Amino acid sequence: MKKKKGNLSELMQFAGKHKYLTYSSWVLSVISAALALVPFVYVFFIIKEVIDVAPDFAQATHIVFNGWMAVVFAIASIIVYFGALTCSHLSAFRIAGNMRKKTMKHISELPLGFIGESGSGKVRRIVNESSRATETFLAHQLPDMAGAIATPIGMIIMLFLFDWRFGLISLVPVIVGFLCMFKMAGPSMAEDMKKYNSALEDMNNQAVEYVRGVPVVKTFGQTVHSFKKFQGSIDSYYKFCVSYCKKCRAPMLWFTMLINSAFAFLIALALILAGGQAIAQSVLLNFIFYVIFTPIITTALTKVMYMSENGMIVADALERIHSILDLNPLTEVEKSERMQDNSVEFENVSFRYSNAQTDALKGVSFRVGAGETVAFVGPSGGGKTTVAGLISRFWDAREGAVKIGGVNVKNIKHEDLMNYISYVFQDSRLLKTSILENVRLGNPRASDSEVLDALHKAQCDDIVAKLPDGINTVIGTKGVYLSGGEQQRIAIARVMLKNAPIIVLDEATAYADPENEALVQKAFAQLSKDKTVIMIAHRLTTVKSADKIFVLKNGEIEDSGTHEQLVENGLLYAKMWKDYQTSISWKVSAKNAKAEMQGGVK
Ligand code: ADP
Repeated sequence: MKKKKGNLSELMQFAGKHKYLTYSSWVLSVISAALALVPFVYVFFIIKEVIDVAPDFAQATHIVFNGWMAVVFAIASIIVYFGALTCSHLSAFRIAGNMRKKTMKHISELPLGFIGESGSGKVRRIVNESSRATETFLAHQLPDMAGAIATPIGMIIMLFLFDWRFGLISLVPVIVGFLCMFKMAGPSMAEDMKKYNSALEDMNNQAVEYVRGVPVVKTFGQTVHSFKKFQGSIDSYYKFCVSYCKKCRAPMLWFTMLINSAFAFLIALALILAGGQAIAQSVLLNFIFYVIFTPIITTALTKVMYMSENGMIVADALERIHSILDLNPLTEVEKSERMQDNSVEFENVSFRYSNAQTDALKGVSFRVGAGETVAFVGPSGGGKTTVAGLISRFWDAREGAVKIGGVNVKNIKHEDLMNYISYVFQDSRLLKTSILENVRLGNPRASDSEVLDALHKAQCDDIVAKLPDGINTVIGTKGVYLSGGEQQRIAIARVMLKNAPIIVLDEATAYADPENEALVQKAFAQLSKDKTVIMIAHRLTTVKSADKIFVLKNGEIEDSGTHEQLVENGLLYAKMWKDYQTSISWKVSAKNAKAEMQGGVK
């Protein structure tokens, strides 16, 4: 079995050749902690001199020198600490940067469907926030930790050097405080930390969903309470935080009280040592020294207390990073096998989403000849989008083979496959750049006139004409708004420019207005000329003229044929067609009724 590595050695793997920076920061931090103790010794000398010469204070001639020495060592400690932080920051930024780069590179090699499945919000959080958590740990917490460990050791030596009785008594609250802390930060805390992060992540994801649903919330006058999942995630986060705080209350109280109460123990001991008499000068000297010295125990221990918690935050961050890094990337061949033509074929393909209980596709087989146009129809959830995703290799089939031109997509280089297939998504996302650049993404070498030609063929002339700077208008700037249909037409222009022989069209489920719909259909028709087209039809408007229609239901092909054949056989498609026509005639009669009413009013 592979031994699980410690968090630190895992982090150090991301440091590359710059590990020495981290180690230097520790050494400097330890030196700084040791230097920080020296001023206390000089303070002791000052107190000693004052007590020795009392009441003739004029004899205390070394006070100024000792005072300055204390200041010099304090400043030296700060300077060395700065050095430690500089090293630690340099290494922390490098490690977090490398971690981000490595994760992003890995994500780019993962199946495209991974982002869709995991949710982009979650992936962003893992990449950004997990690496940031390690940044704080490495830049501040680790060097502080080195110092915090060195301080008690130095302190213990000093405590026993001056008066072992006072030394021992001031350690009592420290030890008891530690025991309280251990009770709080024991093994169950790692579990609690995990629960806390999961609850937070769940709430974040649900919040994103909620914000996405704002139009629905507004239109239907809903409130946050109707978003059961979101409300549930807030409630469970709240419950967890409250119960966790309650759990920590008593140990935290005792810990804070104890580590701040060393002076009370010292007073008690001083009184006992005095035994009701006037306190001896030497005892008094040590007593005053310890009263001044012990508060740094508090500072050091507070840092130590957060050590275990920070370690857990980093362990959790690393686990999340590994949840990405451990995913298998798509296999990639060195050289693509030669494709014979532009056909697409599924051979007994089964597929299941990683988080699903049942197969989304079950033994699906079909063939689309080169240059044919086929449509996939069927009830929602039937598997249409999954078919489209498998052709573009967003995922790999669990069983069976997806073939392009007779070659399994696994034996086609990713780059070649992407050049061979264009996917028009339902919600075409345009980038926040000019229309020209958005379209040119389809073929970075295309000239301006080629871009214009593609825009013209994709029926975008009216869009370009209405925009203030024509094709140089930046999408997403103030006052520039494109409707869903307009965005899709621009996306079609991009695909047109790419000019791939196979086109996968995921038809939008709804358009804002019929005019836009007609233009999009026209653009689709231009795009589909002489190409192999696989159309995911969520409505039946466009499928009638397809060479073949496949009816997908529950992940299986129920039926296939031309429109006429399918209408004739009276099965699922015929029923869908009938429903569709009824809905059209409703629309028509509603229109007529409206026209009649308007006529009557006139
Ligand atoms: P369609 O496009 O026909 O509406 P899909 O291909 O989107 O159908 O979905 C097929 C099945 O796979 C459905 O049961 C759906 O719930 C499931 N599914 C789709 N996407 C995912 C996903 N990312 N994770 C888990 N299950 C999914």
